[in-house]
Amino acid sequence: MQFTQMTTSALAQSLKAQGIKRFYVMTLENGEVIGSHPFLSEWIETLKAGHDFESHEGLFFEISDQYDVIHGAFVHRTCRGQAQGGTRFWQYPTFQDFALDGIRLSKGMTHKNALAGLWWGGGKGVISRPADQTLIQNQAFRKEIFAEYGRFISSLQGCYITAEDVGTNTDDMGFIFSETRFITCIPPKVGGSGNPSSATAMGVVKGMQAGLAHLQLGSLSGKKVVVQGVGNVGKVIVDLVLAQGAQVIASDISESKCQALRDEYQGKAITFRYTPIDDFSILYEPCDILCPAATGAVLNEKTIPLLNTKLVCGAANNQLKNPKQDGQLLADRQITYLPDFLVNRMGIVNCCNEQYGYVDQDPSFLRHLSDEWEYSVYQTSLDVLRRAKDENTHPHLAAVALADERSRLLHPIWGHRGIAIIRTLKLKNWALMN
Ligand code: NAD
Repeated sequence: MQFTQMTTSALAQSLKAQGIKRFYVMTLENGEVIGSHPFLSEWIETLKAGHDFESHEGLFFEISDQYDVIHGAFVHRTCRGQAQGGTRFWQYPTFQDFALDGIRLSKGMTHKNALAGLWWGGGKGVISRPADQTLIQNQAFRKEIFAEYGRFISSLQGCYITAEDVGTNTDDMGFIFSETRFITCIPPKVGGSGNPSSATAMGVVKGMQAGLAHLQLGSLSGKKVVVQGVGNVGKVIVDLVLAQGAQVIASDISESKCQALRDEYQGKAITFRYTPIDDFSILYEPCDILCPAATGAVLNEKTIPLLNTKLVCGAANNQLKNPKQDGQLLADRQITYLPDFLVNRMGIVNCCNEQYGYVDQDPSFLRHLSDEWEYSVYQTSLDVLRRAKDENTHPHLAAVALADERSRLLHPIWGHRGIAIIRTLKLKNWALMN
């Protein structure tokens, strides 16, 4: 069996039995893609032939000492600065699924960071989560596994800076922080920036305002907004659009949450609807703005023909199941789409510069929410929608093209230092170090 088709735990066991603790894939200056071990050769050829691998600068893997867990760090592009993006703690059927998720997500972070004008490159961490639910809820296990991940990140010498992502929480970040300085989103009590959800919601609402301006539909006042998912971000979006005079329908898969919210929002222009997890009917509700704020891939060939909105602008990551095709399907239906990685940037904006300290009314944060700054959510949204129209393409492709262009600019002080760090790891034989 190809190693990529093995489960992550079976691969972890097999490599441990062979005495292999670390392995990597890197792209050299001449474009050649190399692996640390001969068993990677066939996989590298498959990666090069696939869509998502874009000659990533480095993919690094380490097997946990105590558990059948694989730690991954995926460095896509570091021209603008060290690779920055959160670590996902998730269960995958095979190593291939695990690695492709990291490859895809790290590229997405390059786009998000570059579009936001941040001096950071793009990267992502992924830790393969064991199936055992009791184990993953055990705080002692989490402490060990995330501290181990911190040591792994330290060994990468700063080419990748991690943060919180799906499946992780602030406590986990604290455990990682106990072993590495290359982390953001750490707990506030040790100087971290805290929960970014309100900031994320504010950015999404600026995106809505830009979308309405592009469509010459005026302000949010009197508009009907549908929000799918009333979690940390969705609830703040609800508050912000209600405050601006919109009417809202919001859904959630938690019946008890919907009931509690009905009580909390009594008398306001909002209806809460409980929807089971496989019920997507909320997406088809007639509205001016549809705001996915729950899970990804909700915009696809099944749902798009049934949408009844003028604008889609939401917080959820990876809303388009098949970005090129689904972006076109939306455009064909004259539905304006604001790419998630453009409007949900404020989470990373909120945490990525923690080491520079905090000031009240921080201009480096607030300018992202202004209407004027050229890299603000508002101006970038207008720019992307204008480009899509002028170039007869759809906003997802226009945003990716703009992000790709910006992501190749070199950091004004440090240049392409991330790649220099990766070269150092190669020369030091990182894969053989412990
Ligand atoms: P959350 O877990 O706090 O909230 C998600 C909510 O959606 C929950 O209440 C859940 O019950 C509900 N939900 C799940 N599936 C649903 C469905 N099919 N229909 C309706 N409701 C459903 O998550 P969050 O932090 O609010 O993030 C929401 C989305 O935004 C996620 O996709 C996340 O990756 C993305 N995002 C969040 C941030 C942030 O700052 N938190 C930043 C960038 C992107």
